[in-house]
Amino acid sequence: MSALPDLAQIDDATLAAVIAEASIPTLMNTLVHLTGDPAIIRGGIKVSPNVFADNHGGISPEDQQHIRDQALPLIKAFRDGGGVPASLDEDVIREMIQFMTGMQMQPEYVDFLKSELSLDDGPAFEQPALEAISPDRLKDFSVIVIGAGMSGILTAIKLKEAGIAYTVIEKNPDVGGTWFQNTYPGCRVDSPNHTYSYSFAPRDWPNYYSPQPVLLEYFQSVAKDHDIRGDIQFNTEVERAEYDSEEKRWRVTVHRDDGSTELLTANAVVSAVGQLNRPHYPEINGIGSFEGPAFHSGEWEHEHDLTGKRVIVIGTGASAFQFTPIVAEQADSVTIFQRTPPWVAPRAEYHDEIPEGEHWLLSHLLFYDVWFRFFQFWRTSEGVLASATRDEAWNESGSISQANHMLRELLTENARRIVGDEDALFSKVVPGYPPAGKRMLVDNGTWYRSLLRDNVEVVTDPITKITKTGVVTESGREFEGDVLIYGTGFQASNFMSPMQIVGRDGVEIHERWNGEPRAYMGMAYPYYPNFFSIYGPNTNLVVNGSIIFFSECQVRYILGCIAQVLTDDHRSIEPTLEAFEAHNERIDQGNLQMAWGAPHVRSWYKNASGRVTQNWPFSLREFWELTQAPDPQHFVIE
Ligand code: NAP
Repeated sequence: MSALPDLAQIDDATLAAVIAEASIPTLMNTLVHLTGDPAIIRGGIKVSPNVFADNHGGISPEDQQHIRDQALPLIKAFRDGGGVPASLDEDVIREMIQFMTGMQMQPEYVDFLKSELSLDDGPAFEQPALEAISPDRLKDFSVIVIGAGMSGILTAIKLKEAGIAYTVIEKNPDVGGTWFQNTYPGCRVDSPNHTYSYSFAPRDWPNYYSPQPVLLEYFQSVAKDHDIRGDIQFNTEVERAEYDSEEKRWRVTVHRDDGSTELLTANAVVSAVGQLNRPHYPEINGIGSFEGPAFHSGEWEHEHDLTGKRVIVIGTGASAFQFTPIVAEQADSVTIFQRTPPWVAPRAEYHDEIPEGEHWLLSHLLFYDVWFRFFQFWRTSEGVLASATRDEAWNESGSISQANHMLRELLTENARRIVGDEDALFSKVVPGYPPAGKRMLVDNGTWYRSLLRDNVEVVTDPITKITKTGVVTESGREFEGDVLIYGTGFQASNFMSPMQIVGRDGVEIHERWNGEPRAYMGMAYPYYPNFFSIYGPNTNLVVNGSIIFFSECQVRYILGCIAQVLTDDHRSIEPTLEAFEAHNERIDQGNLQMAWGAPHVRSWYKNASGRVTQNWPFSLREFWELTQAPDPQHFVIE
C-alpha cells in the first residue's frame, strides 16, 4: 500500500519520515534483529507490562525520539550495507521477547512465542506428516466440511494441501461466514488485524482493525488464491449427518435453495459452522407486535433510511456498541436499552488507518512485520489473561484479584475521562461485574462519546413489553420509536443447531447433550467417530487472542486425527469416554477460576444451567501445545 520506494532506493529524508511513524517497541526489536546488537533494548528504556498502554508500549515521547534518532543511522547503515541481517542466538531472542512483553517469561512460553513469530523459518503451524500414506489412500478418504467461513476456508485449504478429497457445504451464496452475514454499519474486527489473519496469508491491512468489507474481501481472496471455491457447494445447508456403523461412513443430507435435497457420503465430517450466526431474539412480551421496521444486527435491513428517525436499540454488546454511534449520527433520537454495561478497554488506534510510514515499515523493513504482529499478539491476547484469573483469597466485589482490580480501576478511569463522573451516565456505564466477565470491547472513545450526545438516551429500566409503537419498561414509562434494532446477540450455546448429528449408537447429539454441550478438546466426540468441530464447545476466547490462531491449532489437530485413521488402514477414530470426561472436568474447574465463570456474571458464554460452555479457560500456549498432535491413548482407533 505504500507508494514509497523499497529499502534500497529510499532516501534519507523519507526514511526519517517513515521512522517517525514506527511503533517504538517494534522498531527497537527490529533494530536488534537487523544489527545483532541488543544494546538498544538494554539501555534502560522499558516497555510497560500494561497491555492497554499505547502503540509505543507506554514509552515516553522523549525516549521515543531518542530511539528514532538512534534508528535512522542504523537503518541507513543496513540499507547501504546491502540489507543483510545479523544472525541472533537463542538468548537474544528470549531477551527481545521479554523486552517486548515487559515481563519475565517462563521458558516454555519463549518456545511458543518463537513459533508464533515463525522465527524458525518453518510455517507457524506444522501440519501432520502424511508422506508415508499413499496418494491413492489419501484420495480415497473423503471429508465433508460444513461452512465456508473463516475456519471452513482454513480446513479446506489444509485438506487440499494434504491431498485429501473434500467438499464444503455452505448455506450462504458466498464465503466469509460471519463477515458475509454481519453487514451492520460500523462492523469491524475487534482483534488487531495482524493477528486476526491466517499465519500463511499475511496482508498489508489498511487499518489496525479493519472494517467488515475489508475482512470479507480478505476471506474471499484467500479462498480464491488457494483455489478452493470450486469445491464449495453454495446455497446449500446440511440438515442431518448420520454415522453408518456398517460402512463406517457419514451420510449427510443437504438441502439446497432450489428446494432439492441430496444425500452425500464421506469418511469424515468437520463442522465449521461458527457460533455467531443464528440471531437471538429476546423473550420479551409483545415481541413481533412493533409495527415499524424491526430487525437484528446480524440481519441488518439496509433499505431503511434512519435519517431523522426515532430509533430504539436493545442491547449493548459488541454489535450494538459498533452500530449505535453511526446510527446516532443519522437518527433524530436513539434510545438504548441496556441490561448490563460492557467493559470498554482503551485502544487509541481502533479506527485509525495505518499511516504510510508504518505500511512501508511493515512491507519493506525486514522483521518489522514479525515484531509488529508479536506486539499486537501479546497486548491483545496472552498478556491479558493474568488479569482475568481469580485469586481465591480476594474478596472485594466487582473484581476477582489484585490484577483484575487494577484493570477495573484503569477501565473505570478511562470511562471517567470521557464521560465524567458528575452525570448519571457514569454510574450506568461502569459495570458491577469484574472486567473480562464478558467480552471486553476495545474502543477509541467513540462509544462513550456517542452516549453523551443530546439525541441519545441510555435506559437501564428493564423492558417489560414491546408494543406496536415502542417499548414499555418496568417503571411504566413508554418509549416510542420508528425503528427497532435488536443488538441482542446469537444463539451461541446451541452448538451446531439446527443440524442433526446422529452418532454410531443412533443418538442425536443435542439429545445426548441435553443442554450441556461438551466435546473432547472442543473438537471430537465419543459415539461420533470421524466427526470433528472447529469453534465447538469450550474453544472460544474472551480476552486472550485471535480466534484464527485457535482455528489453526484445531485444523492441525483434526488433520492429525485423520492421519491416525489413514495410517495402517484404520477406518475410524473417536475419543475415549475417560479422556472426554477428564478433559471436561478440567475445563469446568478452569472456567470457575476465570472472570467469565464468576457466579454472578451473566453472558452468552454460559448455558441455562450456568455452566461455561463456550470458553477455553487456559492459555493460548497450552492449547497450542496440546493440539500439536492427538494423543493416541485418548482415542479409540478402529
Ligand atoms: P452479545 O454480546 O450477546 O450482546 C447482546 C446484548 O443484548 C447484551 O447487551 C445483552 O444484555 C442484551 N440483551 C439480550 N437479551 C436481552 C433482553 N431480553 N433485554 C435486554 N437486553 C438484552 O451479542 P453481540 O453484541 O452480537 O456480540 C456477540 C459476540 O459476537 C461478541 O461477544 C463477539 O464475540 C462477537 N462480535 C465480534 C465483533 C467484532 O469482532 N468486531 C463484533 C460484534 C460481535 P446482557 O449483557 O445483560 O445479557
